Amino acid sequence: MRPSLLNPLFAPVTSLAGVGPKQDKLFRYLLDRSETPRLVDLLLHLPASVIDRRTRPKIRDAVPGTVVTLEVTVDRHRPSPPRNSRAPYLVYASDDTGAVVLTFFRAKPDYVEKLLPVGEKRYVSGTLQIYDGTPQIVHPDRVVDEASFATLSGIDPVYPLTGGLAPGSLRRAIAQALQRLPQLPEWISAEVIQRCKFPDIAEALNRVHVPVELTDILPDGPFWSRLAFDELLAGQLALALVRAQLRRPAGDRHAGDGRLRKKIIDALPYSLTMSQQQAVAAIAEDLRQPVRMLRLLQGDVGSGKTVVALLAAAAVAEAGKQAALMAPTEILARQHINTIAPLAVRAGMQVAILTGREKGKERRELLARLEAGEIDFLVGTHALIQDDVIFKALALAVVDEQHRFGVRERLTLTNKGGAVDVLVLSATPIPRTLVLTYFGDMDISELREKPAGRQPIDTRALSANRLDEVVDAVGRALKAGRLVYWICPLVEESEAEGAGHLTNATQRFESLQKRFGDKVGLVHGQMKGTEKDRVMAQFAAHEIGLLVATTVVEVGVDVPAATIMVIENAERFGLAQLHQLRGRIGRGAEASTCLLLYREPLNEMSTARLKVIRETTDGFRIAEEDLRLRGEGDVLGIRQSGLPGYRIARPEIHGQLIMQARDEALRIMKENPKLKGERGEALRCLLYLFERDEAVPLIGAG
Ligand code: ADP
Ligand code: MG
Repeated sequence: MRPSLLNPLFAPVTSLAGVGPKQDKLFRYLLDRSETPRLVDLLLHLPASVIDRRTRPKIRDAVPGTVVTLEVTVDRHRPSPPRNSRAPYLVYASDDTGAVVLTFFRAKPDYVEKLLPVGEKRYVSGTLQIYDGTPQIVHPDRVVDEASFATLSGIDPVYPLTGGLAPGSLRRAIAQALQRLPQLPEWISAEVIQRCKFPDIAEALNRVHVPVELTDILPDGPFWSRLAFDELLAGQLALALVRAQLRRPAGDRHAGDGRLRKKIIDALPYSLTMSQQQAVAAIAEDLRQPVRMLRLLQGDVGSGKTVVALLAAAAVAEAGKQAALMAPTEILARQHINTIAPLAVRAGMQVAILTGREKGKERRELLARLEAGEIDFLVGTHALIQDDVIFKALALAVVDEQHRFGVRERLTLTNKGGAVDVLVLSATPIPRTLVLTYFGDMDISELREKPAGRQPIDTRALSANRLDEVVDAVGRALKAGRLVYWICPLVEESEAEGAGHLTNATQRFESLQKRFGDKVGLVHGQMKGTEKDRVMAQFAAHEIGLLVATTVVEVGVDVPAATIMVIENAERFGLAQLHQLRGRIGRGAEASTCLLLYREPLNEMSTARLKVIRETTDGFRIAEEDLRLRGEGDVLGIRQSGLPGYRIARPEIHGQLIMQARDEALRIMKENPKLKGERGEALRCLLYLFERDEAVPLIGAG
């Protein structure tokens, strides 16, 4: 039960004066909620910037184009003429240095008369313009009398808005919400408060919404930071509580005797690298522990993560349980099953695939077998998390390229079993702060060596002016029987605005086809799954030698015989993406070449990226450089939206706070895991406030 103390904050916004059904709809949209937002949602909607209204010149000295606050006396009104409602309603006002016109379009006369009574003094704030030689303010942002003016700081917060929502109505709603803020207990330890110099939460909320200084709303300032810390602490504490409580019932172990694993390893056409062996051993150990596994397996493209995942699934199957592997794309899921199936079948393990493509009877039968426990290892896409996918005994969830999934999708999958062990596969080393944000403390295995026999890749950058030479070279390679990828950024121009000059995969396919005939194939994201598979299979079987592709081949696609890759508009790709793409070659025994075609002129960022990618094939180094060049949010492609699931904390600004919140959560778990006493009560409030209360029932009785 939510502490009653918090009830006022969870009242609907419609309980505020001036917030009716229309506002409700706009607020839902703005605050991204499917139901009526609560006051807490408003209060956690922080300003993006401020307007400084403290400049208070005389009319004569006011600078056109700037925001000014004028102290004026209202002289007279000139309402719109009755037959021309498009003409504005004008209010003439003045001070002792000159006159100003306040202009209102489509205004209700009553409203303007009340706002600016003739003969009275008003403070009027807005952007000053000169129209017909006269200073004017169109729709002043603020019009207040002397008494209200005395209460304003002159700095207005500017909020992210949505169409149709007036800044004033959001501001008034937030002001009311602040009025209803109850006295909240302090949940942060005195030590952290002191070290970080945090204000209390009421002061933090008040100062970001009613800034006194321009700097009050800066995300790295004390007020915003305090709120970010609260949000992060709630997240870390919830993760820690979940983790601590997810113990398996005594005697319930997720790993068997090793017989399937042995069969698989014996049947491998290669031997596992040292780091693969270490990862397999660490996972087996985790599966035997009474606390569930949460492990990240990081390894460069081609480092052999799939077989490690298979061995983990085998361990689980030995114990009579089931495993699932969720991949972000259909191509990847099919590739995983292609790698996995032959090895698994030889060991007597039942594997199956489920994507959006399995339908009707086939799907029904598969689901029935799954529920009966006849499938040991189910590989698939998002299709795995549909409601009707029911496991008999899911014990291990492997999530490939986790960053392409949301936290919720991962949880939906793991909730299909009890105390499910989680193994996350990533080809992009994930910055530690982000691992912490989403998983809390997580164990990490790294595959640092490449499987034996890998050849280095010769990477060169060339101006697109040399396209003809490149096509000639590709021709020679095709004659010699080599397999070539040709990567283009987009399928059609309409996919991105302003991409008119980008080479279009379809066009490039057509021009290369003119030259090389039916040796050329095309895959892109808008093709049907079956069609994509067919073309990929033709490529793998050498039926076509040149595969024109968009980034659908980016992750994981495995055709070891392919040794040449041309990337057009390479300047358009991010480092991680270039690295992923290039990882498609250099997988077999032959030396490989990657040609990066760029369009001139190159900007500084693109130059730096191409330099890094030419210099190294070490994914860990590339990830570090990527981080340095772009900031860590970008590594996961979440820069734009901040941290999914977080409203206030931002990875690029609050990285340090994430660590501190994690330390604080660990200390709480050590000292007061049942959240008892006054501090415990306060922490429960925190969990509810940030809606991490799903963790509360896990705290356990007294
Ligand atoms: P990724 O880490 O990118 O997912 P994969 O698991 O797809 O890599 O492995 C890439 C290729 O390397 C596959 O063809 C796989 O069979 C092969 N492979 C995996 N481990 C080894 C190894 N120890 N020695 C040789 N080849 C290996
Ligand atoms: Mg892979």
